Amino acid sequence: MKCWGLALQFSKYHPCTGKSVSDLADFTKNVLPFLSQLEEDEAGPDPSEISRRYGISEESIVMLSRNENPYGPSPRLCAALKDVPLHRYPDSRPFVKALSRYTGYPEEFLVAGAGMDEIITTICRIFLGPGDSALIPVPTYNLYGLAVKLCGALPLFQTRLSGFAVDTKIPERIKMAFLCSPNNPTGNSLSEENVRAIVEETDAIVFLDEAYAEFAEKSLLKLVREYDNLVVGRTLSKAFGLAGLRLGYAVASPWIAQQYRRVAPLFSISSPSLAAGVAALRDLDWMRECVKKIVLERERMSERLNCSNPSEGNFLYVHTEKKSETVVERLLRRGIVVRDCSSFPGSGEHCLRVTVGRPTENDRFLEELKKADTALSG
Ligand code: PMP
Repeated sequence: MKCWGLALQFSKYHPCTGKSVSDLADFTKNVLPFLSQLEEDEAGPDPSEISRRYGISEESIVMLSRNENPYGPSPRLCAALKDVPLHRYPDSRPFVKALSRYTGYPEEFLVAGAGMDEIITTICRIFLGPGDSALIPVPTYNLYGLAVKLCGALPLFQTRLSGFAVDTKIPERIKMAFLCSPNNPTGNSLSEENVRAIVEETDAIVFLDEAYAEFAEKSLLKLVREYDNLVVGRTLSKAFGLAGLRLGYAVASPWIAQQYRRVAPLFSISSPSLAAGVAALRDLDWMRECVKKIVLERERMSERLNCSNPSEGNFLYVHTEKKSETVVERLLRRGIVVRDCSSFPGSGEHCLRVTVGRPTENDRFLEELKKADTALSG
């Protein structure tokens, strides 16, 4: 039996045998029916693809589409990676200890995962099943909807209020709600009152995503001590510059953390990632220095772009006069990669998300934007 499973959905012919899909189609009956509604998540084009498509050298391409830290991780990291025993299964305890020092929470409140993406999908597996629903105020990070659907549950997309605040009137019978602060892609933080009102209003589990909290220089982590239904997700992909190593964590009541450990894969974070995480959390000065530079640039860019959405993340949410798809394509041809927000439900067809890069990268973006003849409207 051949194992090319879901490829059946996308290709008419088997890539190796050349057989037509219809010859093998009966295998597809084994795929869970609700999965047919899922669309594949996209990472967007990478430099090698853009280089090939538009004939631009890879070195001149400016990636401002993935909210990465352009300065990368602390230089002290490399030394920490040298002595990692690769023949042993990873031990996450030193990383969790380091997280405990960083967050101020005892270890029983902490869980770690291979990026916050793994934390989100695992948390969903604890609380959601077929017939359940989860509230998702949009626009926001697309993975919440996907993770909910992967459990066979239903995402309830709710439009945000002005300033992208979240309505505190929470529908009944939801089992989870997803908040994101600062929110991807809009950049706004939620106020403490807003979050408290939601957590108190509902008996659902509230997942508060603080992937960008370090850039906002504030956090609602302290609320986990007060609320048994609150989980705060964090990552080392952004301010700590470790997107490639996939390190995330969550702070939650011990009863939730315990459930998490029962469901999550035991060894999902690799030993080099864990060692890098410990080293990164030992060099907080490096992270804070990166944040300082990025925040300065964010404010400069925001002013230059006349941006009407104040951002507390490492990115800006800007409106375009032409369709965002057109603007993104024109910038791509000039070697600048930004995120078209039309793929975020609730964002419409006229918004871009631009990651704050190094000053030279940001200048290139501003320059090429002018040349691409694509007016922004704040
Ligand atoms: N939450 C938000 C809001 C994000 O934007 C991202 C990544 N872009 C994540 C979570 C996932 O982060 P990680 O790299 O830790 O999986």
